[in-house]
Amino acid sequence: MSEVEAKPRIALVTGGSRGIGRAIAIRLGEGGARVIVNYHSNAEAADEVVSAVQSAGSEAIAVKADVSRGDEAGGLVEAAIEHFGGLDIVVHNAGTTRDMLLARMTDDDIDTVIDTNLKSAFHIIRPALRPMMRQRSGRIVCISSIAGLDGNPGQTNYAASKAGLIGLVMSLAKEVGARGITVNAVAPGYVTTDMTAALPDELIQRAIEHTPLRRTATVDDVAGAVAFLVSDDAAFITGQVVRVDGGLHL
Ligand code: NAP
Repeated sequence: MSEVEAKPRIALVTGGSRGIGRAIAIRLGEGGARVIVNYHSNAEAADEVVSAVQSAGSEAIAVKADVSRGDEAGGLVEAAIEHFGGLDIVVHNAGTTRDMLLARMTDDDIDTVIDTNLKSAFHIIRPALRPMMRQRSGRIVCISSIAGLDGNPGQTNYAASKAGLIGLVMSLAKEVGARGITVNAVAPGYVTTDMTAALPDELIQRAIEHTPLRRTATVDDVAGAVAFLVSDDAAFITGQVVRVDGGLHL
């Protein structure tokens, strides 16, 4: 192990208590990172992720914050700096859905999804840039979705939020590349989590039929892509959208 690799990196994972974020937090912890596990309401699940990271031999803390609120989200970066002394990796994973045809969508359905999925990225990433720019290194990954690339009926609010993340990622990659900071997006297809649990089985089966790899993604498929993007092996990759969809779009 080189001297640079020997220093544990500090990673913030939003929505780290369940599903994809949980897998990412544990994966980064297994790789030696100290992890800030953000959650919204599920403290018990977040504590379980902290224990899993500790069992893997690293350190973690759970921090409650509603990322859709600027005043709460900013506290996550502060917590990283106060507790671990810095911030090297941000994985903005927290997200929600309010699926509905646009003709029937309420203002609240629109605001909740845009604020939780997209505006939150600004709340989290803006303060994170300060320590990253100072140290002239950093890794930022946003969890987008194939809905943000391809669109999906019933998900205009969600798809717009996920497409917005891609615009943010590409623009920010151009802004901060000279400071040694990479910014990328991961766009999963269907992943079996609480978020997709209520989807009709026939919808999932149809997606599988159109997927060359003939299955849906696991949370570990997504965590693996994130682990790569924050690794030294991805040092020259920025402004990209990595689809983790088994080839569904082909
Ligand atoms: P999930 O199982 O529903 O978990 C959502 C996570 O986000 C939980 O940890 C939750 O915290 C947290 N969260 C929700 N609202 C929050 C808020 N306002 N502030 C802070 N944390 C909040 O979802 P998932 O399927 O793992 O999805 C994770 C990400 O992947 C999302 O951005 C989603 O859009 C994206 N994605 C998912 C799929 C899929 O098929 N599942 C596909 C493409 C992209 P609590 O536990 O405290 O509630």
